Amino acid sequence: MTTLNETHDSNLTSWVESANGGDTDFPVQNLPFASFRRRNSNEAFRGGVAIGDQILDLAALNKSALFDGLAGEALAAAAEPRLNRFMAMGKTSWSALRLALSRTLRAGSSAQEQLKHCLVAQADAEYDLPCSIGDYSDFYTSVYHATTVGSLFRPDNPLLPNYKWVPIAYHGRASSIRISGQQFPRPSGQTRAPDASEPTFGPCKRLDYELELGIFIGTGNALGQPVPIDDAENHVFGICLFNDWSARDIQAWEYQPLGPFLSKNFASTISPWLVTLEALAPYRTAYSHPAADPQPLPYLSSDANSHEGAIDIQFECLLQTEKMHAAGEAPARLSTSSFRHSYWTVAQMVAHHTVNGCNLQPGDLFGSGTQSGPKPEEAGSLLELTNGGKQPISLPNGETRTFLEDGDTMAIRGFCEKPGAARIGFGEVVGTVLPAVTQ
Ligand code: CA
Repeated sequence: MTTLNETHDSNLTSWVESANGGDTDFPVQNLPFASFRRRNSNEAFRGGVAIGDQILDLAALNKSALFDGLAGEALAAAAEPRLNRFMAMGKTSWSALRLALSRTLRAGSSAQEQLKHCLVAQADAEYDLPCSIGDYSDFYTSVYHATTVGSLFRPDNPLLPNYKWVPIAYHGRASSIRISGQQFPRPSGQTRAPDASEPTFGPCKRLDYELELGIFIGTGNALGQPVPIDDAENHVFGICLFNDWSARDIQAWEYQPLGPFLSKNFASTISPWLVTLEALAPYRTAYSHPAADPQPLPYLSSDANSHEGAIDIQFECLLQTEKMHAAGEAPARLSTSSFRHSYWTVAQMVAHHTVNGCNLQPGDLFGSGTQSGPKPEEAGSLLELTNGGKQPISLPNGETRTFLEDGDTMAIRGFCEKPGAARIGFGEVVGTVLPAVTQ
């Protein structure tokens, strides 16, 4: 696992003033990667690194020939429109570039004059997917989410017996994953009311969000070669926020026996910035199953995973209705939670996904599954917050919601903070529901 090094020093400051002061998501200790260009321009997308309210343009930096050796090679790859080649290079290269970026962005760096001309304001930027996503698998790692949702779909049998043994997942669809700012039409499909004998077709009536993390694979593994748990994190490039929009009524009718299909693959939205596992090193925490639960099988267990397999990433879910937007009212907070509650770790997800010989490739995406915490107010979806649509939630302007309505905008924010470490954030993932397409 990643150990702390000079790039994590909480005393470091940057010559980019907006990166200092503790209230930014992007201090010099974070240094996440994205693909960006100036908004409404014909520029090519290229790699960038967030620093305060600015983006360090990696294509411009690459032209300066400031970095050499491993960091220089990594920079050339990270400057491309998609980060796949950089992600495939592996941890030593990612780390070399991070160190070089940290040193040149620090206060007092002699490279300041040269780098000043490589900055683009985030306010002037637009983003693309950071990499080509070949495959997307969606896990189900919150036992609290699984139990609550299970009790709504199957009151007599909420948590299936395999849950505490297997990091459950299904293969999702990559083609409909878009970057933050996505607007998509409400999906239509087959649904069946509980008391009806036949289904009907029409726009989804129970449209929901799912608070998840997106976990991006860096280096892949050869087909037929499982990744041992203690090598698993070497294959993970970084983490973003992920809203896996879900059509609950379509899901309820279609999901047995093969799992979700059209209820999940119409839209999924990721935040633009990939925060590297190295940046998250100060926020690692111990991981365990409760003593009364089955303990993970040997291929899902290691001392390192027990010691620091979990990551304390805090979340906030916010809703802004069309009416709130028109009135200039701020989004209302629906819930807060943390990834530290996850029943399975990132390393266990990688070890499990590959244990049968399945090959992961650079740019593959895992969804963590909805990250609900132990308390009801820590739920990561409306399905849970409204008890299956039975208890509407009230918004500050008097509106109520059971599920999402047309014009609703959801935002998810994420950050890590604790005494003695620099606060780092993920930015946010935002998406808006449009009316259904008429047929
Ligand atoms: Ca999901």
